[in-house]
Amino acid sequence: MDTLFFRDTWAEINLDHVSENVMNFKTHIPDNVKMLAVVKANAYGHGYEQVAKAALDAGAHGLAVAFLDEALLLRKAGIHTPILVLGASRPEDAGTAAEHRVSLTVYTREWLEEASLHTRKRLNLHVKCDTGMGRIGVKDSQELLEITEVINAHEHFHFEGVFTHFATADELDETYADTQLETFRSMIGQLPHLPEYVHSSNSAATLRRKDALFNTVRVGISLYGLTPSREMQPHLPFELKEVLSLKTKLIHVKEMDEGEKVSYGATYETGNKEWIGTLPIGYADGWIRKLQGQEVLIGGRRAPIVGRICMDQCMVRLPGPVKTGEPVTLIGRQGDEHIPADELADKLDTINYEVTCMIAARVPRVYTRGGAVVEVSNHLL
Ligand SMILES: *Cc1c(COP(=O)(O)O)cnc(C)c1O
Repeated sequence: MDTLFFRDTWAEINLDHVSENVMNFKTHIPDNVKMLAVVKANAYGHGYEQVAKAALDAGAHGLAVAFLDEALLLRKAGIHTPILVLGASRPEDAGTAAEHRVSLTVYTREWLEEASLHTRKRLNLHVKCDTGMGRIGVKDSQELLEITEVINAHEHFHFEGVFTHFATADELDETYADTQLETFRSMIGQLPHLPEYVHSSNSAATLRRKDALFNTVRVGISLYGLTPSREMQPHLPFELKEVLSLKTKLIHVKEMDEGEKVSYGATYETGNKEWIGTLPIGYADGWIRKLQGQEVLIGGRRAPIVGRICMDQCMVRLPGPVKTGEPVTLIGRQGDEHIPADELADKLDTINYEVTCMIAARVPRVYTRGGAVVEVSNHLL
């Protein structure tokens, strides 16, 4: 452990849970289906290389990220497995991708023509099909066929994969996903031969649709132990182990008189004598102002945030006198109580994905195995 931190706020990342989630997915899918661990966006806020390595060690075949820089970061970290960039890359960066054996996503002939001028080594390409997401991808069999012909005609281009992405796989009504799947099947049905990787499923589809696995799946959110949607939660085929906890400690505790004010705007007024604690976390940590009123766990009990959340601190109403230094859990378990990321997502009217992604880079990540700290990552030092 060579990096430390000097504040009482951190995110704890349980790498055993990453491993367990990967192994449960591997058990859930047939042996011939490969799993790509989606580690874009700093592994949904959990830490790129630590999660990537844990997932690969537990049996993931490769990784998927959003853009080339993320892939290069993983290569720099010494990861040599397949890495697929799911989003757009610039054609002039094709040479860099080839150099680092990073697979890219393509969907226009113009991109290929431009990229061919920048490629002097084998470049692995996955063709994206837009079957109803309306984001990126070729729209029909004709376009797919043409683009694969351009790829096959170029000496350095290698047609490595074909894929699509579901818009509604996390909804219990499967009608729209059925249509997308049918469209994808019909599109790839026109190809003279299938590439090495054929994939369509995100976490939700991998968990729910045995008919959409093809030979590869792309698992993101549930790698982190989170359900793809609230409505899917009762239908999960195995228990997901939540990976991230957000923790802090009380840095100040005081008893306030009736009618005293707390925080900016002096919007909170104590009712009676109240015990008020201060936490060293604020909106610059991703603990945003809309979380006012949210509860945190102290001594295994819930305590509400009172007054406005500041940039670096916020205040809570305590059930009584509590010692300074007492541990506080903002996301995760403490005693018999649990605040899941989903509770914050509900409070913020968003999804759990956004909750873990919004935890700022300045919050150190503490990695654990078997309950012991194995690594600390602090982007400030
Ligand atoms: C982010 C992403 C995924 C992972 O989705 P989850 O719902 O997090 O499992 C899969 N495929 C594509 C194309 C993505 O952009």
